[in-house]
Amino acid sequence: MYKAPRGTADVLPADQLYWSHIIQTAEALCRRYGYQRIDTPLFEDAGLFQRSIGAGTDIVEKETYSFEDRSHELLTLRPEGTAPVCRAYLEHGMHVLPQPVKLYYIAPSFRYERPQAGRYRQFHQFGFEALGETDPALDAEVVDMAWQLYRDLGIGRLTVLLNSIGDGQCRPAYIQALAGYYRGLGEQMCHDCQMRLEKNPLRLLDCKQAQCQPLIQAAPKMVDYLCLECRDHFARVERYLGLLGVPYQIEHRLVRGLDYYTRTVFEVVPAGGGQQSTVGAGGRYDGLIEQLGGRPTPGIGFAAGVERMVLNLKRQETVLDDPGRPQVYLAYHGDAAKEAAVRLARQLWDAGVNTTLAVGDRSLRAQLRHANTLNAAHAAVIGEDEVAQATVTLRHLETGEQETVPQADLAARLGGR
Ligand SMILES: [Zn+2]
Ligand SMILES: [Zn+2]
Repeated sequence: MYKAPRGTADVLPADQLYWSHIIQTAEALCRRYGYQRIDTPLFEDAGLFQRSIGAGTDIVEKETYSFEDRSHELLTLRPEGTAPVCRAYLEHGMHVLPQPVKLYYIAPSFRYERPQAGRYRQFHQFGFEALGETDPALDAEVVDMAWQLYRDLGIGRLTVLLNSIGDGQCRPAYIQALAGYYRGLGEQMCHDCQMRLEKNPLRLLDCKQAQCQPLIQAAPKMVDYLCLECRDHFARVERYLGLLGVPYQIEHRLVRGLDYYTRTVFEVVPAGGGQQSTVGAGGRYDGLIEQLGGRPTPGIGFAAGVERMVLNLKRQETVLDDPGRPQVYLAYHGDAAKEAAVRLARQLWDAGVNTTLAVGDRSLRAQLRHANTLNAAHAAVIGEDEVAQATVTLRHLETGEQETVPQADLAARLGGR
């Protein structure tokens, strides 16, 4: 028997409620903040991700699904959503539109990673990007949107971590100071950190090993190295976040390993500290579009995994209304009653009432059991008497109360139009 490939999952009907809740909530949020939807292809020229994420990174070297197509073009299944959106911005000349251009996407993405709870090789990302504007008010707005997303979803016990990682002017001096500090520590850092020190010193702050935590605590902080412009930008982001009422914590160890990230970085994490697993992350990437061959264009965005949101909603046992719940189950006894039920189904469906018509010639008892299994709100029972009087016996399945309703009134009685 075939199974879904490792790291992929079927989204079964029972989970679709969570998915539609998330998608509807995300889309309503984006409309409220003036973002428009964009859909980009599932695969892109492999070069796009080599240029943006970087040819030497783990993502590009070990995690992408890349392949040659039949005409030997090297293509990569999208591992993240920002680079394709920036590519589309450039390709369609969106710089002529009023800036910032605000776009969002909900899209499958692919990374060859070790599967674990809430992490898949085919996963779905909801993200939004604002391109063409450096105003720190926009940074605050993006952080606010990310925060509101979880509030609107009803996912609680979260907090926002915020940092500035400076820019090309001030970051090199910080990285030098950080590397200098770590070089003086020698064997005190873990093996991985010794590699990071050589390859990408900023990632030293990401280390999760216990032995490295005190080293990180005592390490030089980026905020102490910000240039005047970056310091002013950060102060204003904080000011606007205060005005918007977004709670946040400054987290000095929050960094991004890629050069095109600038200034504001933030993550939404479970409140309470410890080994935090990020539920969503965002930041400013003023260097990215230039790196992709465009003229210098600032950008900022946020992305979060849909599967992780589903997991959070399930863990906290969120109860969602099922818009597909049958409002009425049509049960009957006898051939004449069945024909009356079929005619009633026509009326109810036309009136917009969720209706399930019993099929399969089961006993009335079995039909009512079926109605309960489907979680129907009501059962409308038609027997010989009801046929003779053109009525139904309408039973409220939770309370067991029942009443006689004329067939002609049933749709209206169930709130149909
Ligand atoms: Zn370490
Ligand atoms: Zn700076």
